[in-house]
Amino acid sequence: MNTPAFTRNCMHLMISAALASMASAAFSASPSTLTISRLTPPSNPIVSGASTLARFLPGQRFDLQATVQPIAGQAISSVEFKVDGVSVGTVTAGATCSDKVASGNKGMLPATAITASVPCAVAASIRAYSNSAAGMHTLTAKATQSDGAVVERSGNFEVVGIIPNNGRTAKNIIIMLGDGMGAAHRTAARIMVKGYAQGKAQGRLAMDTFPVTGMVMTSSLDSIVTDSAPGMANYVNGNKAANNQEGVFPDDTSDAFDNPRVEYLSEFLHRTKGTTLGIVTTADVFDATPAANAVHTSNRGNGTGIVDQYLDDRNLTGLTVLMGGGRKWFLSNPSNTTSPQPVNGSQRKNSSDYVLPGDIVAGWGAAAGALDASRDLIASFQSAGYTYAADKTAMDSAGVPDKLLGLFSFSNMNVAFDKINARRGASSIVNDYGFPDQPMLDEMTDKALQVLNKNNANGFVLMVEAASIDKQAHLMDSDRWILETIEFDRAIKKAQDFASTNPDTIVIVTADHECAGAAIIGAYSGGGAAKTSVLTYQDAKFPKYTINADGYPASTDVSGKMLIGYGANADRYETWQSNPQPTQDSQQPFVGSAPLNTYPANPNVRNSGTGYLVSGQVSGEQAVHTATDIPLSAYGRGASLFTGVFDNTDVFFKLGQIAVGGAK
Ligand SMILES: [Zn+2]
Repeated sequence: MNTPAFTRNCMHLMISAALASMASAAFSASPSTLTISRLTPPSNPIVSGASTLARFLPGQRFDLQATVQPIAGQAISSVEFKVDGVSVGTVTAGATCSDKVASGNKGMLPATAITASVPCAVAASIRAYSNSAAGMHTLTAKATQSDGAVVERSGNFEVVGIIPNNGRTAKNIIIMLGDGMGAAHRTAARIMVKGYAQGKAQGRLAMDTFPVTGMVMTSSLDSIVTDSAPGMANYVNGNKAANNQEGVFPDDTSDAFDNPRVEYLSEFLHRTKGTTLGIVTTADVFDATPAANAVHTSNRGNGTGIVDQYLDDRNLTGLTVLMGGGRKWFLSNPSNTTSPQPVNGSQRKNSSDYVLPGDIVAGWGAAAGALDASRDLIASFQSAGYTYAADKTAMDSAGVPDKLLGLFSFSNMNVAFDKINARRGASSIVNDYGFPDQPMLDEMTDKALQVLNKNNANGFVLMVEAASIDKQAHLMDSDRWILETIEFDRAIKKAQDFASTNPDTIVIVTADHECAGAAIIGAYSGGGAAKTSVLTYQDAKFPKYTINADGYPASTDVSGKMLIGYGANADRYETWQSNPQPTQDSQQPFVGSAPLNTYPANPNVRNSGTGYLVSGQVSGEQAVHTATDIPLSAYGRGASLFTGVFDNTDVFFKLGQIAVGGAK
């Protein structure tokens, strides 16, 4: 549901104004002079004096790449990369255009995104480069054409120093990621679950009790409004990524898995300290937020390749726990078709799978990949030593295994509103989905912490995502995203309790972006479509919800219930009462069949017979992400670093300081 419009405009940040007109012309014909049209990592020209864009920890690995466009009739014979004037490698290829395909293993690939207009354009790469010297560095690419013509282009990057022996280090890093969770989402959960009286909250969420809170700027490389892929990746590799892209920089090839890579926090700490990695989500595990901790791709939608990389590159990330939905990507699909839908629900397809060029395999030590829709990926995980849990009962009875894979639904898991109602015997939604025994996020978090702490000599990185705060905010289903936030806070309490007994732990609670421009307008009296029942200012009073022993409201439809508005909304019909059924999730493999096809298709038809039309200002049927800063709260070792207003990429360097250099 947080899938953004697939429009991209990566180029404008990559190239200087002087080159812009020439580069756009290049899409219709070869340039008139030998040209380096892109230099990666992206940077502002040094001459502009602008602040540095690409930053890395000392020793963190990343790819260097140049897109080179020869003039018509010529080919690129070599590209040399220099850092601070010193050569760090030369990529060579044969003299003819067609030689470039065969030379992919040596670091020169055809720039297939532009070869229709510039037939011999190439992307030349030095893979897995690193630099340990703190400070600014100049990167220069020097390309030689087959007729001997030469062109150079320079950019820069920064290595951010770590203060050594700066107090004790954090062994364990826990990132609690409330997808789409802005300030309003946190406030609404507090009002509902704790209650207010005479102007004061009658209690605090677990995340409210974290001692430090800052504000985070969330923009991506190519837009003020990010989607979840760079929204997560920016936190855990320190660099801006373009929308839809995770763990990579943009490039000029069509292959979604060959982009220039940036090493993730999980990979960097596994390689240098031997940490393990846990990923827990209520989403499909292929979704952008979980994948942007371990998988490198320019297309967040490539589910088959994404889930394969979790396993295939476990030796790079230390993956030890993977839990969430998404079983559809793990089930064998021998016929390599999704239409008609395979009866087992598989959506594995060769067209969303991956095969890496040889230079990435060699440079990073990554698995080569294979187009294998028929792979039984659950069996592959089990062969690699992971215990598999298909439901909550199996998760509980697994004890504390060395490694754990939990896949609790075909795609995104059911939301807390529907899981809790099912546990109370008041709903059959989870049965309709076919997964009646799904764990809550706090139960998954508790289990993940036990598994990660079992063989924990070197520490771990754990990312826990409450995915459907975002997904239900997109759908403007207020009751459902508020309960998602309550569920998330219960998971946060588990992480906080772990950190309180394991003080070498840092916990941060944050979001990748705000979703829907949510606002708490006041309260609402009565049901149905009567517009006059909106209560503002003193008329709103203090909404009172009864909280059951399970921690969730007995009902969200109380008299004078909280009224939520959306500033980033699409058209919808509203009754302001809870929706008995969730809105259809297009990622469920059987969404087109009964009973899921009887659910409301979108917010613009949901309640259309009974509700009041609220017209929106964005096209389509869903609310969208916003660029509003989001709150980040920190607890444990090094928490004091997270004060003030900072960029999402700054979080990576704060975590790096805490994990490697320590914090006072
Ligand atoms: Zn998101």
